[in-house]
Amino acid sequence: MTNKMLKFTDLSKETPFKEDSKTRISNFNEIYKEFINDKAKSQASRCSQCGTPFCQVHCPLHNNIPDWLKMTAEGRLEEAYNLSASTNNMPEVCGSICPQDRLCEGNCVIEQSGHGTVTIGAVEKFLTNNAWENNWVKPVKPTSELKETIGIIGAGPAGLAAAEQLRKKGYQITVYDRYDRSGGLLIYGIPNFKLEKDIVLRRVKYLEDSKIKIINNFEVGKNATLKELKEKHDAILIATGVYKSREIEIPGSNLKNIYPAMEFLTASNKKGLGDKVENFDNGNLNCEGKNVVVIGGGDTAMDCVRTAIRQKAKKVSCLYRRDKENMPGSAREVTNAEEEGIEFVWLSSPKLFKGTDKVEEVLINKMKLGDPDASGRRSPEVIEGKEETIKADIVIKALGFDAENIPKLFEEPGLEITKWGTIKTDLKTLKTNIKGVFAAGDIVRGASLVVWAIRDGRDAAEGISNYLESKKNKTIAA
Ligand SMILES: Cc1cc2nc3c(=O)[nH]c(=O)nc-3n(C[C@H](O)[C@H](O)[C@H](O)COP(=O)(O)OP(=O)(O)OC[C@H]3O[C@@H](n4cnc5c(N)ncnc54)[C@H](O)[C@@H]3O)c2cc1C
Ligand code: SF4
Repeated sequence: MTNKMLKFTDLSKETPFKEDSKTRISNFNEIYKEFINDKAKSQASRCSQCGTPFCQVHCPLHNNIPDWLKMTAEGRLEEAYNLSASTNNMPEVCGSICPQDRLCEGNCVIEQSGHGTVTIGAVEKFLTNNAWENNWVKPVKPTSELKETIGIIGAGPAGLAAAEQLRKKGYQITVYDRYDRSGGLLIYGIPNFKLEKDIVLRRVKYLEDSKIKIINNFEVGKNATLKELKEKHDAILIATGVYKSREIEIPGSNLKNIYPAMEFLTASNKKGLGDKVENFDNGNLNCEGKNVVVIGGGDTAMDCVRTAIRQKAKKVSCLYRRDKENMPGSAREVTNAEEEGIEFVWLSSPKLFKGTDKVEEVLINKMKLGDPDASGRRSPEVIEGKEETIKADIVIKALGFDAENIPKLFEEPGLEITKWGTIKTDLKTLKTNIKGVFAAGDIVRGASLVVWAIRDGRDAAEGISNYLESKKNKTIAA
């Protein structure tokens, strides 16, 4: 067989078609189209099959990228999908929203040699969606059923990845989630134009078809304590994410029409799913015709500004206290936002919200950059006496998230947490200090990425399975 690989010198890098910005902002559809079969095969053939594949090394899941690229190039699409799915519980999600520029693609060797990276994420997404279309994705059927039950708190990517891995081993799984739909931030945080909700709901249905029981509208701390769940199950996984939004303590913070990012994004996502949302339907959380000010420079802020512009805001401004080079958000998302007409007000920090009842203006301190801080980014400093005012009918705060007080909420004061409020676990097994209780995802590592949540979910599944096995062995020995 002629070599189908190493075509990077003859074939240029091509990315999937991206909708033009005018069309993009007229709807909430995903902005990238999918590779068609031939394009996926030819782009996969650009891979140089490195002896040490840095793409794989830098993937948190260590996806076997070079091998599934080779299979794709050779047209062995079902095998390629199976290999990709063997290390990743949601490859189509990662293909769409992983920051590949910082992970696999950012470390691709042919990118380093100036040929342009292999478009790994786009091929991954194609492979999985193609597998669904061809009915190759089958519900999990364990070879034998085990009697032990595991309760998982949180139906985000960490909880769902753990649920699937444990179900494959034959355990009986119940997932509890306080939301009315499953998916965590995939369903109510991340907007449709980055990740279409059908993709998430399809995954959830697959897990339910695999006989994983999901109980929605069940809030641990309200509908049951951790102790009660522990009595019901042989092991527990806490995968509740981080939801406490960071606040801005400046005068005027109590004015109306100042909202946390998650309230705004959840309302918008619920509307997209056809729900009634009182605070949107009465106009409060709808940006149509308004001057919108979003505060923050991370991915959540980018999702807010791009949602606001799609809601037909009059003007959307993003205030960030550093400059573009020192932004924490993905460069790809900032570019998308700029193309869609968002005004970035760099080196700006809110000093005061002005208004009588509702917010009307934001007074801004202009900033300069000092020396790098612990994160390596240069720290912002106020330029005394340099201020600006910006009009605002609605302000959205996107300054990041902290962990809720889980020991208090779950009535489990002995549960150990870190100084950041996240749950303390053993790094490898993800077990907490309470016997039979494990934790995974953002609630352990702080606000992070989907791919890390999946990795944690898989590691926790291993930890739980080993724990239950050793318990069984001890009983037999006794
Ligand atoms: C706006 C936004 C955009 C993002 N964009 C990206 C992106 O483009 N790419 C990327 O890789 N990452 C992105 N992330 C980060 C990513 O979504 C998270 O890192 C990931 O979802 C964490 O997964 P998790 O399972 O730990 O938690 P979550 O996804 O937060 O899921 C936790 C689940 O636990 C449930 N829960 C919480 N408390 C309880 C309780 N007491 N009882 C029952 N259930 C409970 C919640 O309802 C939720 O469903 C984004 C995050 C946000 C906020
Ligand atoms: S680093 Fe790039 S060229 Fe090398 S194996 Fe990975 S995708 Fe292929």
